[in-house]
Amino acid sequence: MHNLDLHSHSTFSDGTLTPDGLVARAAQRGVTVLALTDHDETGGLAAARAAAVEHHIRLVDGVEISVTWSGQTIHVVGLGIDPSDAELQAGLAATRGGRTARAEKIVGAFEALGITGSRDGAQQYASNPQLIGRTHFARFLVKQGIVKDLKTAFKRFLGGGQPCFVPHQWATLGAAVGWINGSGGAAVLAHPGRYPFDTAQMRALLAEFRDLGGAAIEVVSSSHRPHHCAAFAAHARQFGLAASAGSDFHSPQESYHDLGSLPALPAGVTPVWEVLNPSILH
Ligand code: AMP
Ligand code: MN
Ligand code: MN
Ligand code: MN
Repeated sequence: MHNLDLHSHSTFSDGTLTPDGLVARAAQRGVTVLALTDHDETGGLAAARAAAVEHHIRLVDGVEISVTWSGQTIHVVGLGIDPSDAELQAGLAATRGGRTARAEKIVGAFEALGITGSRDGAQQYASNPQLIGRTHFARFLVKQGIVKDLKTAFKRFLGGGQPCFVPHQWATLGAAVGWINGSGGAAVLAHPGRYPFDTAQMRALLAEFRDLGGAAIEVVSSSHRPHHCAAFAAHARQFGLAASAGSDFHSPQESYHDLGSLPALPAGVTPVWEVLNPSILH
């Protein structure tokens, strides 16, 4: 029996474990197939692959692309991508490119609130300086004792509509799906239960995603409560999309679901690993 986890992060984006440390933890906790899906970045895949050989687990080359759709940020995971694909890399570089300027605006917003030191503070957590993001600022706020945990950092400062939220234009949905498919991967709509869409908007998103060539949606995710899981399994069936499962693991201290402890996909959906290149499982 396989134990798959198709969504996780390393120090190449906003996870706290190195690719090697992540793979070692996954193996130790019983994961047999792990996708490393860093935000807008594939730099950790080579080290993760070497570690996966050493720990006798399978690694799926992945990425999680930041997308702006209907004025909101959504995430599209690519599974089974080819990290050497030039168009994919150009797209990811363009998507990452705005992060440094955005981080400066976030620093300014903290200064306006009288919170100093966030530039260096966040940078200390961003081992990949190209990939500075809100999680690094959130860790700085926790370290300073300004908030008790990451969730509160987003609720009070960094989440949508909060004083240090800086709107940003990410990739388009069509571009992200195109880069993933063009490199031989499968596009998966990440944690749909997190988006602030009503039913009509969610249906529009799923229809557009499928028509653009999207393959699957995350049904099992640490962002999902049981009712989300049931609702998105039904959506997957209705829209002819496969279903994926991922912990979205970022850190042993911060994640709701640790590696290796995901619930099974509900019955009646097509698992995304059945539509991926079968060599992933063999
Ligand atoms: P960014 O891509 O820089 O906008 O940062 C997005 C990241 O922030 C996500 O991938 C999560 O890791 C993290 N994040 C977003 N919302 C929350 C939240 N409410 N609690 C904890 N982490 C969050
Ligand atoms: Mn993240
Ligand atoms: Mn995400
Ligand atoms: Mn993620």
